[in-house]
Amino acid sequence: MIPGPFSYHRPQTLADAVKLLSTLGDEARPLAGGHSLVPMMKLRLAAPAHLVDLHGIDGLKGVRRDGNNIVIGAMITQHELLASGEITKSLPILHETALLIADPQVRYRGTIGGNVANGDPGNDMPALMLTLGASYRLEGPSGGRDIAASEFYQGAYFTALEPGEILSSISIPVPAAGHGYAYEKLKRKVGDYATAAAAVMLTMAGGKVATCAIGLTNLHETPLLAADAAKAVIGTSLDSATLKKAATAAEAIMSPAADARGPIEYRKHVGGIMVMRALQRAASRAG
Ligand SMILES: Cc1cc2nc3c(=O)[nH]c(=O)nc-3n(C[C@H](O)[C@H](O)[C@H](O)COP(=O)(O)OP(=O)(O)OC[C@H]3O[C@@H](n4cnc5c(N)ncnc54)[C@H](O)[C@@H]3O)c2cc1C
Repeated sequence: MIPGPFSYHRPQTLADAVKLLSTLGDEARPLAGGHSLVPMMKLRLAAPAHLVDLHGIDGLKGVRRDGNNIVIGAMITQHELLASGEITKSLPILHETALLIADPQVRYRGTIGGNVANGDPGNDMPALMLTLGASYRLEGPSGGRDIAASEFYQGAYFTALEPGEILSSISIPVPAAGHGYAYEKLKRKVGDYATAAAAVMLTMAGGKVATCAIGLTNLHETPLLAADAAKAVIGTSLDSATLKKAATAAEAIMSPAADARGPIEYRKHVGGIMVMRALQRAASRAG
């Protein structure tokens, strides 16, 4: 299939992009890497009359430290994230997750901003952003605002983005030194979206879990934080009974779709296994 007709715009500033999107209204969509939007257009599942390409705008790239936060420009590609020394050093789970997205071709074009703004439950970055306590900077016709990733996702392809708003950057608190981390993703083949995936960030003290956050990908119409599962492991040494308890608590909040990746019960079951594996691997990496 080929996409329907559309007009192409390439603004040079964020203000111009916001103005264009506000003026053109519902018929216009921002274009980042195009690796979700263009396939949707080719399938005629999306038919925007105007594409506002964000590639001409300076200032939407880069990774920088801002106090105790790492700020990542929305137009950074997955490939650029993988090449960033700052990310490898301070946020190794982000490196690990980016490496599990699709294949090099997609990672060369796909951006972190497009991944988190898309609202597809199959995208890997949103659940990770919840796990990391990230917030998103949105620029719109009435100015800028920050929103927690945990408040951004409202349904499949339905986010807190208001008409005319562009996600310009992502801010992530630098994790504690010596933290353990893991992103476990089950997929049918290399380059596929997750059948089920789990992100874990934790710290250990005296052989026991001191803090823990667990995020779930493609196990609900939005990314999820498995708060009860995380609570279940605090103060434990992650013995097998605790791991099972955490998996059961996580499964209780999963409601995946039954699709080509498997029936609901199967996806919940493997979702629980991803949680247990991620907890174990994160603990083994904690200092
Ligand atoms: C074969 C294949 C396999 C894939 N596998 C995976 C996978 O395993 N895991 C995974 O996570 N993803 C996967 N993807 C999707 C890929 O990661 C996309 O690049 C990503 O979902 C969207 O990023 P993008 O930069 O391409 O955004 P685009 O496709 O350009 O945009 C996606 C949506 O977000 C909006 N948008 C983009 N940027 C902004 C912004 N800054 N502000 C506001 N709105 C914005 C667009 O208007 C559009 O609605 C795969 C894609 C392909 C083609």
